Amino acid sequence: MATYQAPLRFMRFLLHEVFNTQEMLKKLDIMEDFNVELMDAILDEAANFSQQVLLPINQSGDEQGCTFNEGAVTTPDGFKEAYKKYLEGGWAVMGCDEKYGGQPLPKALHLMIEEIFYACNTSFGLYPNLTNTAIQLLETHASQELKESYLAKMVSGQWSGTMCLTESHAGSDLGLIKTKAVEQPDNSYLISGTKIFISAGEHDLTENIIHLVLAKLPDAPEGSRGISLFLVPKFLPNEDNTPGERNTVTCGSIEHKMGIKASATCVLNFDQAKGYLIGEINAGLKCMFTMMNNERLSVGMQGVGIAEVSLQSATAYALDRKQGRHQGSKEAADSIIGHADIRRMLLSMMSMNGGCRALAAFAGNLHDVSVHHNDEAERKKSERMLAILTPVCKAYFTDASFDSCNNGVQIFGGHGYVKEWGMEQLVRDVRITQLYEGTNGIQSMDLLSRKILADDGRGWEEYKSELCAMIKEAEEVNVLGKDCTRVRQAMGNLSSVTDSLLEDGKRNSGLVGAVATEYLNLFGTVTLGCLWLKMAAVSINTGEDDLFYKQIRSSCAFYCRHQMATVFTSVNRIMAGSHTIVSPELEEFELTTLVN
Ligand SMILES: Cc1cc2nc3c(=O)[nH]c(=O)nc-3n(C[C@H](O)[C@H](O)[C@H](O)COP(=O)(O)OP(=O)(O)OC[C@H]3O[C@@H](n4cnc5c(N)ncnc54)[C@H](O)[C@@H]3O)c2cc1C
Repeated sequence: MATYQAPLRFMRFLLHEVFNTQEMLKKLDIMEDFNVELMDAILDEAANFSQQVLLPINQSGDEQGCTFNEGAVTTPDGFKEAYKKYLEGGWAVMGCDEKYGGQPLPKALHLMIEEIFYACNTSFGLYPNLTNTAIQLLETHASQELKESYLAKMVSGQWSGTMCLTESHAGSDLGLIKTKAVEQPDNSYLISGTKIFISAGEHDLTENIIHLVLAKLPDAPEGSRGISLFLVPKFLPNEDNTPGERNTVTCGSIEHKMGIKASATCVLNFDQAKGYLIGEINAGLKCMFTMMNNERLSVGMQGVGIAEVSLQSATAYALDRKQGRHQGSKEAADSIIGHADIRRMLLSMMSMNGGCRALAAFAGNLHDVSVHHNDEAERKKSERMLAILTPVCKAYFTDASFDSCNNGVQIFGGHGYVKEWGMEQLVRDVRITQLYEGTNGIQSMDLLSRKILADDGRGWEEYKSELCAMIKEAEEVNVLGKDCTRVRQAMGNLSSVTDSLLEDGKRNSGLVGAVATEYLNLFGTVTLGCLWLKMAAVSINTGEDDLFYKQIRSSCAFYCRHQMATVFTSVNRIMAGSHTIVSPELEEFELTTLVN
């Protein structure tokens, strides 16, 4: 089984020393109970619960998977019991409104707790997480009546939530959905259509499932401008909010997948199912983005969590496994941790994972400022920066995490490829994070097209100032001299590439499509460089020299000298433009599929 202990020291370092979350909460005048001790106690409990309850059923859940029988889905052995313990532990109410029984949490802390749950058992984590993000959507957009009927049961975790967007012919392009909604005299709607790939669409963990469904009214405008959002419960609630009559939404089958096998991925058939409008007619996608943006951050944390397991397992293995001899050694064989190539992989995993976790904490604090600051201008500024960072957290974290899991297998050699050690499961489980919640290709276009170009670079300029302030702070700690220079140069590269895209991108949509993925890579790489400088500067300023701070500085040095070398590749690729990508004739591609 894979090795895992929640990286609590790192998390505490970020929350208290690097980003000073307690101070931020004080300034915002919110969550006054959340001092350092309380945040640490919650993290400790999350680690205990996940390591004792969720980790032991991760491998067995993968082997057993979910089963489907006549419309019913059964989760693997132990999942029901674990879910009960999850509710008893009070985890379901995390981050929800107190009015409905919730417990607000600082977002940075919330994201770290999610990381721990996902590390121990990604499949399990998905069930409550979807409920949590569905709750955020309902809190923001649902009518008071719907809130009263559904929120308390969802916050308590007795009822779960789903997001129903995808149809067989409509994945990335939701404007193509065909699911129909027809208004009824009592203001409800009858929903008909088939959704595919719906996570937690049917299961045996909760007494009711609340589907949030995108559908179109008969006279709706074409494309994404004609999408509305509906709440469709599996069981229609009685007056006393107990589950009543069965609604006509049924599970047709479940998918047999590469990974996250204990998460039920369902085909859902809506056959004139009763539903209720959320938000305005034809404004459904905008409402759905409340859930999707939270989900995107959350999927990023899935990646970080799984990659952390890979890092810890590979490190333990490398310390133990003896193959080959170090220079001058008299042993029959030395442990592989001494080989530079193994260290290269471990440092790459360590520096990417730590950097991503730091960016998540930064984004978490931005989230809280964007919601709670008393000055509207400050709220809007943080909202713009968070909007920029959301696709970066989703795509950059998950690409890096896949690489880390792949490196984990590599460090185990052939033993990584067989089931016994659990390393191949990590690769299979993490792979989905690059696909769902909008593929990473779609995220990169969201970043460049919608968040940078459509905003005329306004959010970008604000974000750039934040990054430059981090570099300046680190420059004041002269120990980091050369690394500061590297990051400052990379920042200059990102800045001039962005200026050039702001100039050319709007009139050349082909260019945006061709360079967006590389732009997101560059953006993420430079951002993590600034964050590593910030972390190293904090570690130096403590004046202490314990092993943890040394590890921070070693990771920073490795990141700045090795990982950041990709900046030049990215810049060259972006500056190469779109011609070589868009100019080949369609027939040239078709030739590949023809038998010679
Ligand atoms: C295990 C699992 C769980 C899921 N859970 C849910 C869920 O709970 N709810 C839900 O609604 N959906 C869910 N999905 C669906 C998932 O979000 C979609 O699979 C994903 O958004 C991609 O859609 P698609 O598979 O149709 O791929 P397509 O949209 O067909 O994309 C295929 C390829 O084309 C690229 N592409 C598409 N359009 C463009 C474009 N305009 N420009 C450039 N490239 C483009 C994509 O990046 C991708 O590489 C889940 C999927 C899986 C596999």
